[in-house]
Amino acid sequence: MIVKNIVEPLVWETLGKVLNSKPEACRCEKCQADMAAYALNKLPPKYVVSRKGEIIARAVSLDNKYNIAVLVAVTEAVEIVSRKPRHDD
Ligand SMILES: [Zn+2]
Repeated sequence: MIVKNIVEPLVWETLGKVLNSKPEACRCEKCQADMAAYALNKLPPKYVVSRKGEIIARAVSLDNKYNIAVLVAVTEAVEIVSRKPRHDD
């Protein structure tokens, strides 16, 4: 059995959508990872228990309020990271 934070795949999916609406934002691997980490630190995790390998991201339905919180956190993450990208380090 594994314990998995289902917010993580949701953040990555939302990040893809937000980046599509912000063509000026950097899409390099480093910036995208920084954006996802920033958003995940802002959001309360939601853990589920699953058998190894089982696809669970869709199994748990998150309420609409939580989906909006994810969108807000990801949008903020894109703005913050775009202002100070760390991809030159
Ligand atoms: Zn970058």
